[in-house]
Order: sequence, then C-alpha cells, then structure tokens
Amino acid sequence: MQHYYNVIIVGGGISGTALLYELAEYTDIESVALFEKYQSIAHLNTNGRNNSQTLHCGDIETNYTFEKAKKVKRTAGMLLNYALKHGYAEKHIFKFPKMVIGVGDEEIEFIRKRYETFRKLYPYLELYTKEDLGRIEPKLTEGRREDIAAMGALDEYCAVDFGAIAESFVQNAKKITKGVCDVHLETEVYQIEKMGDKFQLLTPKGKYFADYVVVDAGAHSLLLAHKMGYGKDYACLPIGGSFYYAPASILGSKVYTVQNDKLPFAAIHGDPDILAKGKTRFGPTALALPKLERYTENTYVEFFESLRPDKSVMKVFYDLLADNDIREYIFKNMMYEVPGIRKGLFLKEAKKIIPTLTERDIEFAEHVGGLRPQIIDKKEKRLLLGEAKIDTKEGIVFNMTPSPGATSCLGNALKDVELIAEYLGCGFDRKRFQRDLLDEEEGMEQLYIMPGYAASAS
Ligand SMILES: Cc1cc2nc3c(=O)[nH]c(=O)nc-3n(C[C@H](O)[C@H](O)[C@H](O)COP(=O)(O)OP(=O)(O)OC[C@H]3O[C@@H](n4cnc5c(N)ncnc54)[C@H](O)[C@@H]3O)c2cc1C
Repeated sequence: MQHYYNVIIVGGGISGTALLYELAEYTDIESVALFEKYQSIAHLNTNGRNNSQTLHCGDIETNYTFEKAKKVKRTAGMLLNYALKHGYAEKHIFKFPKMVIGVGDEEIEFIRKRYETFRKLYPYLELYTKEDLGRIEPKLTEGRREDIAAMGALDEYCAVDFGAIAESFVQNAKKITKGVCDVHLETEVYQIEKMGDKFQLLTPKGKYFADYVVVDAGAHSLLLAHKMGYGKDYACLPIGGSFYYAPASILGSKVYTVQNDKLPFAAIHGDPDILAKGKTRFGPTALALPKLERYTENTYVEFFESLRPDKSVMKVFYDLLADNDIREYIFKNMMYEVPGIRKGLFLKEAKKIIPTLTERDIEFAEHVGGLRPQIIDKKEKRLLLGEAKIDTKEGIVFNMTPSPGATSCLGNALKDVELIAEYLGCGFDRKRFQRDLLDEEEGMEQLYIMPGYAASAS
C-alpha cells in the first residue's frame, strides 16, 4: 500500500466520492486516495436514512429565486445525467409525482404566480386545482375546508438513494482510472500538516502524504480547517433533522409546502421512502444540536471547538432569537423531539399536507435523519444558508455542505477539479465532462456559483 498520492480526499460521503469519480474519469492525475473514518462509504448524512432523498432541482423548492433555481437545475441535472448514463434509473434514482402545495388564498396566489415564471425554466411543470389533486393525490383534499392548489410534475426523476450513488462513484472511479485509486476505510485523518510543498496526514494506520488535499468531511471539515489555522472567520452550527413515518398508502408523491423565506428548507414535506418500503416520511424537523454527528455522543467537545463561541457568534444567535418567526420555529422544533408530546405537536404541522392524518398514522422515525453543518460567517455576523468552501490557495480546500449538498455534489466537485488541475498543472478533459454530464446548451462557468455559496481564502 502506498503512502504518497497526488491528491488525498478526506471524507467518504457523496461530496468526497463525487470528487474521486471526477478525478478518475476526467483528469490524468496519477494517484488519488480517499480516507473515510467509518467502515463504509456514506455512513453519515449521505446515507439514505439520514436525508430527504430528494433531487433538489429548484422546481418545487419555493425558497429559490429564479436565478438560484437556474443554477440548482444545472447541478441537479449533472447528477441525473450521471445516473442515467450508468443505468441507475429505477435502481438508485426514481420517478415519483412531485408538487408544492399552496393552502389558502394567499399561498394559492403565490403558487400561481410562481408557476407562470418558473414554467419557463421547467417546461414540464403543471398547475393542479383542488379537483385535480383529488384525482392525483386524494388524501391532500379529503377533509380539507380551505382551497388548495399545487404546481408540480407527474413523471420526473426526483428521488435519489444518495448513499448508493456515493458507492457507485467509488466503484466507477476504481473501474475507470488508469492510475492509482485507493479507498482507505476505517481510517480517520486526525491531523493535517503542511510540510514544504506536501501535506502530511496522520491516521491510525500511519502517515500519508499528498500534493493536494480536499477535505469533504461534512461537519468535521471546519474543525480540521481550524486545527490548521484556516477558516477562523467561520463557525459551525449543526442542525439535526428528524422524520416521522406514516404508511405508504397515505401519500404516493413528494409533496412540498411553501417555504418561509427566512427559513429555507424548514417547511416540512411528505415523501414516499425509497429505502423503508411501505412507508411515507414526513419531515424533516430542525434542531440545533451541540455535536458534529447526529448519533455519535463523543462529538460534543468537537462541536465547541468548531463553534468557537465569541461575540460575533452570540450576535448571530441573538438576531435569530429576536425574530418572532425564527424563535417560534426553534421552540416548536425542540418540542418535536420530546417523547410523549412530540407526536401530537408534529401532527398539527403534518395536517397541512394531509388534513385527515391522526396520531395513530404516524410514528417518530428512530435513528432516521442526519445533521446539516450550517456555517456562521463571523465577519458578516450572519448564518450562511448554503454551502461554503475555504480555498486556501495553498493546495488544500475545505468544503462544508448542508442542503442541498447531495444534489449538488458533482457541481461542487467540479469546482475542486478545476482548482486541483490549476494547482498541479494536470489535464482535465472539460469537453468530455461537458458532453457526459451537462445538458447541451450549458456552459461550465455558471456552475461555479452555487446558491448561497460562500468562498473564502483564509
Ligand atoms: C435531514 C436532512 C435532509 C436532507 N435532505 C437532502 C435532500 O433531500 N437532498 C439533498 O441534496 N441534500 C439533502 N441533505 C443534505 C445532504 O445530506 C448533505 O449535503 C450531503 O450528504 C453532504 O455530503 P458530504 O459528503 O459533504 O458529507 P457527509 O455525508 O456528512 O460525509 C462526510 C464524511 O466524512 C467522514 N469524515 C469526517 N471526518 C473525517 C476524518 N477526520 N477522517 C476521515 N473521514 C472523516 C464522515 O465519516 C463522513 O462519512 C439533507 C440533510 C439532512 C440532515
């Protein structure tokens, strides 16, 4: 087993594995290795149990502006093209009817207006009246007094087993590469140090060296950056998300609700679960948690190390709590985790989707739902709502990837491929990349600006 590589990737979730695949398939890099601390790929947030399994392409996510939706559509399209090219249709990526519902006059008006604008970007979108919905998804209208409308589509790929896709990235990378492509499981990277023009990585299996390092370690990325003296202007606020199960007979479509602008991805949705057969999921909830992994108790200290509480962090918390909507949302979501009362409280919210839902229909989904590493920008004193990257320009990059990080994995990896190719002076077959993964008319340059994306050089 060799101990030196051109590129080392830390983290075997969908971000790290997407990069491994792109490097193997589209560059002439001679050796690349990925290090994952657990025994399998996609053990944490990328695992299908822990996320909402949705390809977020921007058509039913009402928190996106038209401009943001254009960008999300491109990166989501890359994942779809990858999956179809490799024959994963109905294996790892699935078609379901999908829609966003508007309940009551105000939301219906909002949906109608949005439909008029967004159908230019998504020509397949349709507008559904209450009568249409009674046919397509009867439980949405049963027992409902208010009016309801929706926009959506009945025959689009929208559900993804991101864990299986991450594994496929590894398998395909190993198959394709002409060089070395090693995957080290159960190998945690404790520490990274710059030594001359190389990086030294300390692991339980010894020291490894690389010319370039990409840290795709989820909530741990910022901690590793801090240990090297980078990203001091950022803090990590982990937000856990839980789900409730209902029988599959309740819902056959992905049903989203109108988002609150201040709280993107906070409105719950209903989704047929592609892994727990026979079940529909409602959620996710959102709860700030003092740890870096949802189900690993010994990450509390690491949480404080990566939060580094100071005046700027307190100002962000103060501002969040000063807003009525956000305060109410935080409190409500804390209650959703309290055994004994959580079911009844969550039911009220889920009834917006299915009015006839009862407590008997739902159960808290134990050990389902991961954690989103939201980033606080200390300089700007605000919570970043999308992905963030620390590009040190010194041969090491750190990525923090809350939602919709799984959907945009290939777009995010592309940015790193460009940085690596420039730094190491290696070849990157852009034309083939474009032909394989992008839709015809698209240029690659637009992909680099992601929604809510922050990039920093320190
Ligand atoms: C409730 C919820 C719902 C979501 N729904 C969606 C959705 O529907 N669609 C969507 O696109 N996105 C969704 N997301 C977001 C999505 O899950 C993440 O953006 C994505 O999984 C991030 O992938 P990642 O590879 O960056 O991180 P992770 O999947 O967290 O992987 C990081 C990996 O790094 C490893 N690691 C950490 N530290 C080290 C170290 N020191 N050494 C070695 N390995 C290390 C970890 O073990 C882990 O395997 C959701 C997230 C949550 C929490």
